[in-house]
Amino acid sequence: MTDRYTVFGNPIAHSKSPRIHAAFAEQTGQNLAYEARLAPLDGFAAAVAGFRDEGGRGANVTVPFKEQAYALSTSLSARARAAGAVNTLTFAADDVLGDNTDGVGLVNDLAGNLGLDLAGKRILLMGAGGAARGVMPPLLEQGPAELFIVNRTAAKAEELVALAYPQGVGARLAAGGYADVSGRFDLVINATAASLSGDLPPLPAGLFADGALAYDMMYGKDTPFLAFARREGARCADGLGMLVEQAAEAFFLWRGVRPVTAPVIALLRAN
Ligand code: NDP
Repeated sequence: MTDRYTVFGNPIAHSKSPRIHAAFAEQTGQNLAYEARLAPLDGFAAAVAGFRDEGGRGANVTVPFKEQAYALSTSLSARARAAGAVNTLTFAADDVLGDNTDGVGLVNDLAGNLGLDLAGKRILLMGAGGAARGVMPPLLEQGPAELFIVNRTAAKAEELVALAYPQGVGARLAAGGYADVSGRFDLVINATAASLSGDLPPLPAGLFADGALAYDMMYGKDTPFLAFARREGARCADGLGMLVEQAAEAFFLWRGVRPVTAPVIALLRAN
């Protein structure tokens, strides 16, 4: 029997996840099929239930259903709870296990593929939506000197930090608006939706430290943020590696086998 998995989203036609998981399955010799499914905006829970009834073993979840996936999970990993969102569902007999692999995906891309040691570094994280919330705890676990969360709506960034760390974590974690951004950063991550609309968040010039990395979670095309970073002399990376790494972690959760990601990233880049 071939085990079946899917990714739910709306829209979903653009998803690279079926190709990524097919490549992982081939590489590891796992007998599975992985498809993309468009869930109606008002019918996510029913779509998940339908897939389970058909014998589906697990699912990835993308925009705009990650919070709904969190709500329908019957048990949650610590990192899903911290993120307040679920991107990986595993179906057990009576349980729906919810996990979130976005954060570890980003950290594995930064540390493994891009060779960045985050310990002692100054990190600027732009955005206070689901993506920023998911990556904040794993970034902090890497021991940066400072993690500053900046958002267009400053109050949302402050709320994000207060909710995730009600006791605070000292000077290492702070939040505010773009006017509060000061000094030079070793890593600047764009976790906003600004790139989707071709916008550049209002970043000051002289933001990047020597050898700094600019990371845009969006992938597939050059963005105003990466163009700005290049002009400012920073090294640039898009979110394709994160996409493949979060998929690898989901594959590991489902199959207990860890695929090698580098050839899959290379395959997607070649296309
Ligand atoms: P949300 O809609 O939850 O959050 C959007 C955030 O972007 C908010 O903080 C919002 O600020 C900010 N924003 C939107 N437009 C602008 C703008 N013009 N200027 C400045 N800030 C802006 O989105 P997500 O957190 O789910 O996703 C963010 C991005 O990350 C998307 O591009 C998504 O594709 C990408 N992503 C990539 C992944 C990968 O594997 N590579 C995984 C997950 C996400 P405000 O609060 O003020 O409205």
